[in-house]
Amino acid sequence: MSEHEIIILLCNPQQQPNADIIAATKAFIAALFPAAEHIEVTCTDEVRYYDCGGNFEHIHCPACHTELSVEQWHRLMDADYNAENNSFAMQQLALPCCGKLCNLNDLQYSFEQGFGRFAIIMDNSVGVVDAATQAAIEVFLGNQPVKIIYRH
Ligand SMILES: [Zn+2]
Repeated sequence: MSEHEIIILLCNPQQQPNADIIAATKAFIAALFPAAEHIEVTCTDEVRYYDCGGNFEHIHCPACHTELSVEQWHRLMDADYNAENNSFAMQQLALPCCGKLCNLNDLQYSFEQGFGRFAIIMDNSVGVVDAATQAAIEVFLGNQPVKIIYRH
């Protein structure tokens, strides 16, 4: 795998596209990103965490915009993680800053990170996915909004 990856997730971490779409996704993505050497489509029962690697800068509360410390965030991650099924529950957790109920996927990550049961992972051959390409992917995946993660 490349050192620079693009990971495409559905914004709804519980959702998976239907089987026909899943089967066709790789060919569709390969046509959109002809220079990509590795494209992997992952579907899991469990909700997995997809990080941005060394691109990580900070995390903010979406309600009051306070920066969460890495320690605070790890406590939230631990509270949501279920070791029995190796999955994140995506529960509504009270944030330590303002008490707002929020799931881990809705925190403001810089760079973007996310959670999901479906992911497209490929080497980054384009730098940044442009808005038209993102819109085409969203239409293909059943008009589902996507999160794009740049992992380095
Ligand atoms: Zn807050």
